Amino acid sequence: MIRLIFATNNDNKVREIQQAIGSRIKVESLKEAGINIDIAEPFNSLEENAVEKARTIFELSSENCFSEDTGLEVASLGGAPGVKSARYAGEGRSSEDNNTRLLSELSGAVDRKARFRTVICLIWNRTYYTFEGVCEGVILTEKRGSGGFGYDPVFIPDGSDKTFAEMDLVEKNQFSHRKKAAEKLTLFLQELTGRIPV
Ligand code: IMP
Repeated sequence: MIRLIFATNNDNKVREIQQAIGSRIKVESLKEAGINIDIAEPFNSLEENAVEKARTIFELSSENCFSEDTGLEVASLGGAPGVKSARYAGEGRSSEDNNTRLLSELSGAVDRKARFRTVICLIWNRTYYTFEGVCEGVILTEKRGSGGFGYDPVFIPDGSDKTFAEMDLVEKNQFSHRKKAAEKLTLFLQELTGRIPV
């Protein structure tokens, strides 16, 4: 079985990516790989942050690995919170606080279009590859649902009337930005190795 270290400490992300990739590749969290580090996200683009996270883990482990960085891009806020999605309400604040700030910024807004964008960076045999996944949707006026994480309670993907937080993982993955990027990663690995069924 192929093993890939995923440069994250977020168990929700590990579950989503493992579900998207399938069982022929074992996705290992940093904890499972015995790496105890909080990786910085110092740059102004998802792409640069994803590359930085993968580079950091490759330098520590010398193993094939990948990272992902995700942002919520709201059209009427000029693409904010974007790369700053995790700290929209301030450094160290909760997802609850981020959602509250977002709803307040959009208070009374008619244009509520938003998209999640994920960039995955894979380091395979010392070469870097990136993959993007986008999910278009809208921001609600209040939170709905108790599943998922982050901005899930306020985001409805196009084609659904449920928020991500009202969906189970299988349903979320029919729309998910992370799933789309993971599918590209899986196809790429399949072509590269010639032996991984999608
Ligand atoms: P990061 O990729 O971990 O830096 O995530 C940036 C921010 O977006 C964090 O606040 C996450 O909680 C949030 N986020 C990332 N992916 C998702 C998602 O699939 N649904 C909702 N929020 C997300």
